[in-house]
Amino acid sequence: TALLEIRDLKAEIAGKQILNGYDLTVKAGEVHAIMGPNGSGKSTLSYVLSGRPGYKITEGQALLAGADLSQMSVDERAAAGLFLAFQYPLEVPGVATMTFLRAALNAQRKKRGEEEMSSPDLIKRVKELAKILDMDMEMLRRPVNVGFSGGEKKRAETLQMMLLEPKLCILDETDSGLDIDALKVVSNGVNQLRSKDRGIVVITHYQRLLDYITPDVVHVQSAGRIVRTGGKELALELEETGYARYQSEAA
Ligand code: ADP
Ligand code: MG
Ligand code: MG
Repeated sequence: TALLEIRDLKAEIAGKQILNGYDLTVKAGEVHAIMGPNGSGKSTLSYVLSGRPGYKITEGQALLAGADLSQMSVDERAAAGLFLAFQYPLEVPGVATMTFLRAALNAQRKKRGEEEMSSPDLIKRVKELAKILDMDMEMLRRPVNVGFSGGEKKRAETLQMMLLEPKLCILDETDSGLDIDALKVVSNGVNQLRSKDRGIVVITHYQRLLDYITPDVVHVQSAGRIVRTGGKELALELEETGYARYQSEAA
């Protein structure tokens, strides 16, 4: 069974159809890149898969390891191993990042019928991850994303992802707003998650991120669906030619 199987998916927001027959299959061990122009529905895809209120599937299916995502709550999706890193991470005033990480991990464990991770184990693990991500532990005492720079937000999100060890990671424009040092650090974290048991989908407008995270498969998204699929060389081709031809084909 594929980790993610999207079949002829159609979805809308505020009565406007954004995904127009989306097909995508991600198997364990694969890293996919989805590239596309602004407004092509890349973030909409991630919101639909996450179960964000207001995003409505009108046709087709999205299956996570064979289970219909539309029938699962947000918590059930997380417990089943889905992780989404959003383009615009939410701020959670009043909740320390460390508290948030503990709650996210233990909610997932509880849902799976597993024991909570003890505080010393959690702190040890978070320290290891913070080191990999070149993050100051002091940051983890601050409220989630409040006043974080772009680089700090992405580091915090990558740390959360590494802590949760998801089956399927979807990263929406992780590269946006990152300087080259932060980009390398975050990419290094993502690369550490590469495994034969895990699927990773990186959504990006620019090919730059793919210099650091080498995809097995590259897709071009335009007007709410995948219009072309190829190997990593497709990303380089796009860097040369841009998206114009795909936009006119879609229109
Ligand atoms: P991308 O991430 O590829 O830039 P988005 O998924 O953000 O694209 O947006 C796809 C389309 O959906 C755009 O035309 C955008 O204006 C529209 N859209 C996004 N959110 C809403 C909303 N809440 N209501 C109406 N249209 C929306
Ligand atoms: Mg956009
Ligand atoms: Mg987007």
